[in-house]
Amino acid sequence: MNYSVTQLRERVLIAAEKVLKRNGSVGPLELVQELDFLQWRYFEDWRKGLKLDSPIESRIQCGTEKLADTYRLFAEWVTEKGLKTIEAEYSRRTVNGVEALPLTTDNNTERETFYRTHYAPAELSEKKSERLQQKLTKAPDLVVFVTTSDDAKCSECDDEIMPGEFLFLEGHMPLCVRCADLDRLVFLPSGDTAMTRRAKKHSPLSAVVMKFNRSRKRYERQGLLVTNAALAQAEDDCIADADQRAARREVAAVQRIVVDQKLVEQMSSAILEQFPNCPADEAHQIAAHAAVRGSGRVGRSAAGRELDPKAITLAVIAHVRHVHTSYDTLLMNGVERGEAREQIRDSLDEVLNSWRG
Ligand SMILES: [Zn+2]
Repeated sequence: MNYSVTQLRERVLIAAEKVLKRNGSVGPLELVQELDFLQWRYFEDWRKGLKLDSPIESRIQCGTEKLADTYRLFAEWVTEKGLKTIEAEYSRRTVNGVEALPLTTDNNTERETFYRTHYAPAELSEKKSERLQQKLTKAPDLVVFVTTSDDAKCSECDDEIMPGEFLFLEGHMPLCVRCADLDRLVFLPSGDTAMTRRAKKHSPLSAVVMKFNRSRKRYERQGLLVTNAALAQAEDDCIADADQRAARREVAAVQRIVVDQKLVEQMSSAILEQFPNCPADEAHQIAAHAAVRGSGRVGRSAAGRELDPKAITLAVIAHVRHVHTSYDTLLMNGVERGEAREQIRDSLDEVLNSWRG
């Protein structure tokens, strides 16, 4: 043994007390972070679903014997303090629903339960315990990446994902935002906390945008993807309660995508040809959205592709799904994508049929 158990006990007790005081509860994974056996940064990335290659257990850097002693001393401390247990899941949010994060290499039930168990003061009320359990279990937000490599491809539609464009990871498979059903969302850059908080609150579907910083070797938050309506609502909120000029400056800072107006007009008419009862402003909205994709990427050839009747129908379907059904809310509540589409199929068909006339 190349360590002193007495010293280790001292360290474990101090660390456990510290985490308990800070978080209101303490679990093994929080303890080993405080002891520097597990990198905080790595744990954070793992929580967000950015590190799926290895289970978190394999990243705890500590000798087997010492780690066993650590957990034993921790358990003794828990008993002495008479703490109560709160079991919480570690999970991540995906467009396919909520998935459990990998904890152990061999899916060992006993150790999985051990890592999921948190300890809180026994006198914590029923209501507060419940809230704590919810807080611990809540999956972090959906994450979208800004592509940095120049050979990224969507695993579903095979389209290239260019550097600077958004990419979503479904497990290990990269998806373009269109295939991930996130292309209805607009980008709100980081920097304005009030706008960010409000836009997120108003948005039925949102995702955090991250970008890998090569020199610092870590992911950095760039902003948030939210619905256009949520962004508008957040802007209104900010204008309503902040100093008028300051708020307008903030609003102006929000990046807007330049839309090819001629293409929008062409597409609007193409939509109305197929869906004569579609309200004109919605046809315009659908066209404006599709045109951003077209012009932003490969110019004329994409524009041509967007006017293809099949592409028009797909754009209309996507719009109806997001605007006229509960699809986004279902996704945010962890309903699997296929299941969500099944659930809203009737309301989708109803709108499409009425628009076809
Ligand atoms: Zn795709």
